[in-house]
Amino acid sequence: ARTFWVGGNWKMNGTTAAIKELVAAFNGADAAAGVEVVVGAPYVYIPLVADSLRKDWAVAGENCYVKASGAYTGEISPEMLKDVGAAWVILGHSERRNIIGEGDQFVAEKTVKALEAGLKVVLCVGELLEEREAGTTQAVVDRQLDAVVKAVGPADWANIVIAYEPVWAIGTGVVATPEQAQEVHAAIRKYLATAVSADVAAATRITYGGSVNGKNCGDLAQKPDIDGFLVGGASLKPEFIDIVNAQQ
Ligand code: 13P
Repeated sequence: ARTFWVGGNWKMNGTTAAIKELVAAFNGADAAAGVEVVVGAPYVYIPLVADSLRKDWAVAGENCYVKASGAYTGEISPEMLKDVGAAWVILGHSERRNIIGEGDQFVAEKTVKALEAGLKVVLCVGELLEEREAGTTQAVVDRQLDAVVKAVGPADWANIVIAYEPVWAIGTGVVATPEQAQEVHAAIRKYLATAVSADVAAATRITYGGSVNGKNCGDLAQKPDIDGFLVGGASLKPEFIDIVNAQQ
């Protein structure tokens, strides 16, 4: 059985005061045992979160660069993320692909470097609305995954969680139906079986992201190939605990 995984992605949100308040709420909450929980914070707040967050949860960076150090003004290395207390990094988020312009190869290279530095990776994939409407959802997701499959070894998948995040569902309030998400998750698992191995396909957590909240998470969590969530807006509220407890 795959351990249920729930990640928060705060994106570019928070202040010292707001984060202290949110962490206190998380720390005081009853979270289901046996769920792996990860909180993604803006770079500058990672030390604060790493120092103050409950120790049964982990911290993620929301991006990293592909070098350990050097003349790369403004960039942050996977090694630095580890140094300040992050165990995970979110890579390939649609906002980085579509707003910042990161391509499949760059995301794959980041994945390799992050894994080499000893970070675990939340690898985000997902189609735009026009791609769904054109019927190319699976081709897009397979293409995004292909770049990573070619760059990492089979054993690396033990340290990767996939987040399927349809772009049309992110921040829109339009959550994928459990059936829509399950269909893509099952196809991703099938893809992994072919492209990597049956064992990796069976073991890899495939999580869903896009307008997940405390109310809609329960039905999504019942689908056999939905192994957790990557949560944006609702991860900035105590409601995140309800999503951590989605299986209860
Ligand atoms: P929302 O939950 O705000 O839709 O964001 C999802 C997301 O992008 C998580 O990475």
